[in-house]
Formats: sequence, structure tokens, C-alpha cells
Amino acid sequence: EKVVRKGSNGTRHDGRGTRTNPPPRYSRADIQRQRQALPAYKVREQFLKVVRENQVVVVIGETGSGKTTQLPQFLYGEGYKERGLIGITQPRRVAAVSVAQRVSEEMNVKLGEEVGFSIRFEDRSSSKTRIKFMTDGILLRETLQDEDLDKYSCIIMDEAHERSLNTDILIGLFKKLLARRRDLKLIVTSATLNADKFSSFFGNAEQFIIPGRTYPVDIMFSSVPVMDYVEEAVKQVLRVHLSAENKGDILVFMTGQEDIEVTCSQIEEELDNLRKLDETIKPLQVLPIYSTLPADLQARIFERSEYRKCIVATNIAETSLTVDGIGFVIDTGLMKLKVYNARLSMESLQITPISLAQANQRAGRAGRTGPGTCYRLYTLTAAQTEMLPEPIPEIQRTNLENTILLLKSLKVKDLSRFPFLDRPSIESISTAQYQLWSEGALDNFGDLTLLGERMSRFPIEPTLSKFLILSTLDRFHCSKEVVTIVAMLSIPPIFVRPNNDMGLQKKSDSSREKFQVAESDHLTLLNIYDQFMSHGRNEKWCQHNFLQHKSLRRASEIREQLVQIMKNNKLDLTVQDCEDWNLIRECVCAAFFLNGASFKKYGQYQHLRSGLEMALHPTSALYGMGDLPKYVVYHEVILSGRVQHMNYVSTVKGEWLIEYGGVFYSKRVRGVSSKEHQRRKETEYEEYLQASKK
Ligand code: ADP
Ligand code: MG
Repeated sequence: EKVVRKGSNGTRHDGRGTRTNPPPRYSRADIQRQRQALPAYKVREQFLKVVRENQVVVVIGETGSGKTTQLPQFLYGEGYKERGLIGITQPRRVAAVSVAQRVSEEMNVKLGEEVGFSIRFEDRSSSKTRIKFMTDGILLRETLQDEDLDKYSCIIMDEAHERSLNTDILIGLFKKLLARRRDLKLIVTSATLNADKFSSFFGNAEQFIIPGRTYPVDIMFSSVPVMDYVEEAVKQVLRVHLSAENKGDILVFMTGQEDIEVTCSQIEEELDNLRKLDETIKPLQVLPIYSTLPADLQARIFERSEYRKCIVATNIAETSLTVDGIGFVIDTGLMKLKVYNARLSMESLQITPISLAQANQRAGRAGRTGPGTCYRLYTLTAAQTEMLPEPIPEIQRTNLENTILLLKSLKVKDLSRFPFLDRPSIESISTAQYQLWSEGALDNFGDLTLLGERMSRFPIEPTLSKFLILSTLDRFHCSKEVVTIVAMLSIPPIFVRPNNDMGLQKKSDSSREKFQVAESDHLTLLNIYDQFMSHGRNEKWCQHNFLQHKSLRRASEIREQLVQIMKNNKLDLTVQDCEDWNLIRECVCAAFFLNGASFKKYGQYQHLRSGLEMALHPTSALYGMGDLPKYVVYHEVILSGRVQHMNYVSTVKGEWLIEYGGVFYSKRVRGVSSKEHQRRKETEYEEYLQASKK
């Protein structure tokens, strides 16, 4: 059953990886000079006074005014560090890491000591840490362990205007928490002027404005609709670069990693060609930035460059990261947005127009150090008709399963009375509750079951934690393998597929095929990981096989941490290898039955519950089976263009779907009655309860 084949030769490229402390990129004196020039620096005393006199302060300041890097240091200097940690939350991982790095440099301390960071699966803080940058998700998880967040003296909820799901939930939780802990200081920062909402939420909390200093930005709309935004952006970059009088760096806003990479290589290619014709044309330092880029490459956007810089970024550069010296912004007017369809309970990333507020924010990036220009690759009419005034908060467009699981474990009984800044729709709350119930995480009264409680302990999506927990049951007994699969599902794609080289692409495709276990992408992941380990986690071996070494190393770190959480919760890790990989597939089915689909025609499946058509991902191992299976379950759906692709798919038996997903599937297929299903489900949990008492 286990198909294990050796890989072939290949090449390079990196995933994301461990972070080291690189040498300072500026001299100490430079850094101090930069600090002192920041608008925040000039209002240090006033800021500290307002914090002293108020429990909650809403800070408003232009991006780049020094909110994120300076405010924690002010609090540190004022002695709040004696009373507890100073915590700063960020909606984005990249920002948490990058800013922690910067602040440790400014304070001349080693990252991970006085200044640390903590993001999911990566904790670089220690007992010495006084200033801790973290994602909002991390702080939310910490409230599970310590409801009162006793170890903190101050918390800065940074980038609150982004309205990320976790920030919104934290803000709701703080309402009660602040009453319990009168000594805790809360600082909410917001880049734009919609700070009133936060103020009034906390009973007219004090506002503190950092006076900004911005320069005028000329805004140029496209006169005709743009057909290909990548092509147009490349042209615009070159136009700016070639007009000799233009000084200043260029910042391009793209939607995601793929189009960023294409844009970067096209700019480089076209510029190379031009420079062959005209040697006086200067080179351009083209730098990508997106969230899954390795940290050392991310840091390059802040480095000094001999040539003009051209940074090609996602909306991460809108407010979270500020690079000085940008004179030109090229704005596609688009972003990738996670969209959730509650009716189909399906999440996907879609390219959508940004809001007007974001468009202004993007333009503003050109006017930080002098007057600038913003080229919008869309028409004025499009902006007026297609853009919303402000982005929709994440809480109103996302799957709430995880949030509800978390709130339930925080003993929030009645969700309708939770103080939401903006309420999610009733439909999305009830869909999530229904799903949690059907997965056995909530009982008929909407309370957490033991399974649900266990699920909430893992910082991963509920289906994955259920998958892990089920694998420890006697009937499956394959937790050693499943924890690997879960870790592998938590990293960015592991295969390298070179962009511009057909020959290498072919090689990479055939290398991928060598690892495939035909029945299942999940088992394929397991196979790759096992081989990676048996080859001593060798980097050369990864390169040969077109695998991202850093990602695989990351998977093994994540695996370690999941194993630790399992131990803490008395969930057994199997010692022996699972002999029968069919059992693992059965376990996949037991966890992912909500994502069941049946064969329609070659490459096409139909979602069992909604009837929606979905395609098998072109890289799926299942194509190796010859005839495609009648039933499959998938891990997630990704939307590419207009096609819904099932990503990570496993072949399952119809009986398994009935057995584990009986709530949904029993009526369709004869054989097992829903009573029988109910009985089996009960035995399953009894077995589980027994197992968890050990
Ligand atoms: P705000 O939070 O108000 O947007 P920040 O505190 O993030 O402002 O940024 C203040 C200044 O620090 C900016 O000029 C920015 O360029 C600089 N800065 C921030 N992070 C880094 C970094 N990692 N390397 C170099 N400079 C940085
Ligand atoms: Mg900031």
C-alpha cells in the first residue's frame, strides 16, 4: 500500500524559515536620529500623562509616525515593565516579527530577551522579555490559560482599524476584563480617523492624537479600464524609473505572492533588455514582500540600497510596515480577501477591489518624506462605483467556527450578548454552531462537549484538531502519522515549481509524482515527511527533489509543538508505525466528512451537501489512480480564476461517509439507519471518554 519511490534531481528556492538576528542595518547613531525625528517622539510626555490618567486610550496617528515602534518603549522607560509585560498585538505575523526586530535594535538588546515576539508555532520570548510583540491570535489564546492576563501591565492593540477577527474578539473580551483588572492599561491604536468607534465602545475613552506631518500626493487615475494589472504595473514602474527627474523609491501594491513574483521578474527582465540598449539607464533594486516570504528576505526592504528601490507588496505595506523614502505608489486597487460563504460553509481567497479608505492609505505612502505621486491602475468611475467607503470587518465575512469554540471555552454562554464591535450575521453564527454540533464539539444545548473542549486547546482549525484527537482513538490508532499530516497541512506549499523555465517545471512535476501515494494527498504529505526525516532532513536532498527545505523543517517544528500540546492534554501519541494506511484515510474521512464530494466526470466532483461543482486540483495525487474514485473528502477549497479547486484530497469509501457523517449522508445511501448511526456515534465518544480518562 505504501508507495515509496525515490526522487530525481532539481533546484533551489526557499520557503520560510528560522530567524536569526542579523547585524544592524544602520549605525546606532543613525537609529537614534531616526527615532528622534518621529512625530511620536515629540509627544512622549503627553502620551505618558494620558496613559497615567486613563485606563483606556485610543491613539490616532498617521502610519509611520512611530506608534508601533515607540509607544512600547515609552511605556518601558516609564516603569510599566516593573509591573508586568508590555504586550503589543498585530493582526499580521510579518509585522510582529519585523517590528520586534526593529525595536530590539533600537534598544540595543538581543531579540528574544528584553524584546521578543510570539507568533503561532514560533515563540521568541523568554523570562527576560518585557516587551512582547505578538499576533492578536496569540493573545486571544493566552486568555484561555489566564482569563485576566495577569502577567501584563499594558496591552497595545495595534492596527485596530484593520478590524481583524481576533482583534475584534479581544476588544469584546476587554470590556469585562478591564473592569476586573483596574490596573491594566489598554491602548488601542488606529491609523485612520474612524477611532470614534473604539472610543465610544469603551465608554468615550480618551483619544490621543499624534500630530502628523505629510506631504501632498498627486493622484493619477487611469483614463481607461486596465486589462492586465500586472503588465500595466510593470509598464508604470519602468515609466517612472526612466524619467530622469523622478527621485524616490517605488511601491507597488499587488494582490499576492503569485502576481508579486511575476511582476518582479518582468520588471527585471524588461529593465535588463532596456539596459542592453542604453547603458545610462540605472539598475533598480526590485524587492518583493508578502507574508510567507522568509524573514531575511523580508528584512531587505528596509536595507539601504545603492539604486532606486522598487518594492512590490501585498496590502501588508498599507499600514503594518512603513518604508521611508517612497516617492511613487502604483496601486492596482485590488487585494486578496478571504471570503466566506455561510450557505456553502466554504472559505476562499478572492481578488476584490479595495475600499476607498485603503486607496487613500496606499496613496499616502508616497507622501511620507516629501511630495509624491500615486498612479492608480483604475478609473475614477471604477473607484466611485466599485469601492466601498471602508473595508468590511473580518468578523462579518469569515467562518466563525474557531471563534465560537474559543468563546465557548471562555464560558461565554450566550453569544447574542457578547459585546461585538460589529455583530456578525445570525446566519454565520448559527452555521458555525451547527457545524460544531455536527462535528460533536457542541452538545444539543450548545455547550462544549469534552471533544469540543479538547479541540479548543489546539491553535489550529477545528477540523484539524478533531482529526488529531480522533487519531488517538483505539479504532484508528494512528496519531503518530496524523500529527505529521496536520503539521504538513499547516505550512505553505512544499513543492518548488520554477516560474519561467518549462524544462525545470517538467522536472519538478515528475519529481512530485514520485512521492505521490495515489489514493491520497494526505498520505502523500506523510510520505514526503517520512522520507525527509529518513534522509536526515538534508537540504541537498530537498533541492534535488524540488522540495522547500525550510518549509519541511518548519513542519517538523510545528509537529514537535503539536506533540507537546497532545502530551499536555493526555492524548496518546502512538509508538508503532501504523501498518494499514487505509485506517489513516478512514480517519481523514471521520474528520472531514463535511467536505465530502462525489465523482461527476473526469477531474470534476460535486460537493455532497451543496451540489456545488468542484475540480480536483491539477497537482493531486489522485490522478495517479487512473480511474478516479467515486467519493473523496478534501481539506479546503481554493478559488483559482473562476474554478473551485479541492486542495488535498483523499479517496474514501461511501460507507465511511455514512458512518461518520450520518447526520448528513444517511438518508441518501441505504444500509445504515440514522438510529444505527446515532448508536455508533455514542460508542465512539464513550470510547473517547475512556481514552481521555487514562
Ligand atoms: P506606525 O506604527 O506609526 O505606523 P512605526 O513605528 O511602524 O510607525 O514606524 C516608525 C518608523 O520606523 C518608520 O519610519 C519606519 O520606516 C521605521 N521602521 C519600522 N520598522 C523598521 C525596520 N524593521 N527597519 C527599519 N526601519 C523600520
Ligand atoms: Mg504601526
